[in-house]
Amino acid sequence: MAEISFHGAAGTVTGSCHLLKVGGRNILLDSGAFQGPWAVESLNYKPFGFDPASIHSLILSHGHLDHCGRIPLLANQGFRASILCTHPTRDIAHFILMDSAHILKEEFIWRQKRLIRAGIKAEEPLYTFDDVYYCMDLFDRPVRLHEKVELGDGVSVMFHADEAGHILGSAQIYIDYPGHRGKRRRLLFTGDLGDGDRPLVNDPENPERPVDVLVMESTYGNREHRSYQESVEELEEAVLSTIKRGGTVLIPTFALERSQELLYHIGNMKRAGKLSAKIPVFLNSPLAIDITRLYQKYCNYCHSEFMTGYGKGESPFMFPGLHFTQTADESKAIHMIEGPKIVLAGSGMMTGGRIKHHLKHLLWKESTTLIIVGYQAEGSLGRKIIDGADTVKIFGQPVSVKARVYTINGFSAHADRSHLLEFARRARPRKIFVVHGEPSSSAALAEELARDLRNTEIHIPKLGQKFKI
Ligand SMILES: [Zn+2]
Repeated sequence: MAEISFHGAAGTVTGSCHLLKVGGRNILLDSGAFQGPWAVESLNYKPFGFDPASIHSLILSHGHLDHCGRIPLLANQGFRASILCTHPTRDIAHFILMDSAHILKEEFIWRQKRLIRAGIKAEEPLYTFDDVYYCMDLFDRPVRLHEKVELGDGVSVMFHADEAGHILGSAQIYIDYPGHRGKRRRLLFTGDLGDGDRPLVNDPENPERPVDVLVMESTYGNREHRSYQESVEELEEAVLSTIKRGGTVLIPTFALERSQELLYHIGNMKRAGKLSAKIPVFLNSPLAIDITRLYQKYCNYCHSEFMTGYGKGESPFMFPGLHFTQTADESKAIHMIEGPKIVLAGSGMMTGGRIKHHLKHLLWKESTTLIIVGYQAEGSLGRKIIDGADTVKIFGQPVSVKARVYTINGFSAHADRSHLLEFARRARPRKIFVVHGEPSSSAALAEELARDLRNTEIHIPKLGQKFKI
């Protein structure tokens, strides 16, 4: 009998991890990190809820940390099987996991410094660079587009790799398996679904029927997005008005996909003559720089119009005045540059990284514009700013918020409520498991699904819960 159990992204957005037991095989779908407030992040330190050594295959939907972030830990605890994913996902996961190991090390050093005077030993980091190097050897089965891979015991997997429309290399996963009395069954795991109408990645593909079981994300299960074009226009207006009055545009950004999308739009403004070629633009994030280069390597996974530029030998990300800021010294030197400029730096929620130094120098100036293009979690510095704080603390010092603040939500890489509902309607499965959402968002989506699909069983699984499928 086939069974699925949920070990992450069940009651939370992050920590994606689901275990499928079919045809005698134990197949893990994702092994992501929990991110957010400590109540959620502390789940990273809890046992997986299964024996990592018992897993026969790990299937990775895409390279975001909340989908791949616990793989080093899994390997450290006995996991030895192959990791199946697309080629771009393998390379993205490498950069993301190395960056994560670096952050864990920095946090450990900081904790250790604080606790040593109290005679307390700081808890070891979740994993180290060595764990990441080791687990990268297990990424030995990159999968081609639409390739069917036999996993043994009558179970096969297929990646609809170019069509999840979420980020470079993201995939919808189809698993065919023998169900009750050997009847063929199909499970579809959406991973994260995109919203469509994006310049870099393709629109998400419609589900390929028949689908018996659908495991679907619900990040924005209770929200509609503003149109993408309106968001691009708002971005242009915010940038051009700031440059006109000689100010600095600061954009805290996520290294993967969002940074590249913004570079693409800023490049378009320069190519169209709206923004002077002389205005300097800094991509101040070594991780974002590494990932930007992957788009060139894997441009065949991108939107065909976007690829045309590469076909002519031109990168859609390169334009006059663009600087890749690698070192900390180069980052500090940005403040010495007089006149209007645009700076993209991480972290996206302003909780760490180089953006904090820029905010310390510029948030209190009326000539600055801060453009927020991503989700800001409760308790983050970004959330305090968009909630209207007059003053915020940066590196322990109060800094007044005098900059103009724009919040532009239409750049989300996730499908909104209508798109999720449409996807489920087209799949028309026997069972749906709603995962990867805040409880209110998953509940709202499940309620709508129940109204629409009267013959479908709908579940919002809890952490550790098992179901027969
Ligand atoms: Zn994602």
